Amino acid sequence: MTSRQDPGRVTGAPHPDLVGRTAMVTGAGSGIGRACARALAAAGALVHVVDRDAQAAKEVAAAVGGHPHPVDLADPQAIAELPTAVDILVNNAGLQHVAAIEAFPPDRFELIQKVMVTAPFLLLRHCLPHMYRGAWGRVVNISSVHGLRASAFKSAYVAAKHGLEGLSKVAALEGAAHGVTSNCVNPGYVRTPLVEDQIAAQAAAHGVRPEDVVADVLLERSAVKRLIEPEEVAAV
Ligand code: NAD
Repeated sequence: MTSRQDPGRVTGAPHPDLVGRTAMVTGAGSGIGRACARALAAAGALVHVVDRDAQAAKEVAAAVGGHPHPVDLADPQAIAELPTAVDILVNNAGLQHVAAIEAFPPDRFELIQKVMVTAPFLLLRHCLPHMYRGAWGRVVNISSVHGLRASAFKSAYVAAKHGLEGLSKVAALEGAAHGVTSNCVNPGYVRTPLVEDQIAAQAAAHGVRPEDVVADVLLERSAVKRLIEPEEVAAV
């Protein structure tokens, strides 16, 4: 549903009734994940709040009446200890690193693949059996415009989001017979710490104002000429 005042803004989408459903949102301590946790809880779901930031996970879980899980998603053992009885899985946790390929630290590249591709795969393995037993499940992968298009200096992020797109398509094919859907959400630039850090870094590097970085760099190719709010992504 879009607003009449601002046709680009998704507002007031009616909440589906998720009473009795259990959701897990990764990276739910901040930004888009936190907004998803709030939206799912508002729709009646019990929410498992997963984040490596223990304090943020605790605060969001308390705010939405859910359960905090202070977990580093780069650690497969920690993922194995998460609950399996999940009906709605939101693979959202992510991080960015901006550098030319020839200068890109290999350990950062590997970490980004671990958190943004391997962890969603491990969580699917972990949660799909429960969804299949109940013949119902929803997998939502927070991808990005960068799951469909490239930007220079974001090799790890673009590779990971394209990988997540492929994983999501396979999950959709395998899950269909079991009542399980898998979809990607592909936002442009959203007002969260992940993007605010990039704006500050670019403004400092080029000696320009943060608002000029937003207008001239980030939104140059965007149809909607403003940053998207996390709640708008959660509504989708
Ligand atoms: P954010 O930095 O506000 O939140 C990311 C969260 O993920 C943080 O709470 C962080 O602690 C958590 N996290 C990171 N690494 C983790 C790990 N190893 N284990 C557990 N938790 C970890 O970022 P955001 O902008 O809300 O991004 C959320 C998702 O949305 C990401 O997948 C990002 O790629 C995607 N996305 C963001 C934008 C944007 O413009 N902000 C646009 C498109 C897609």
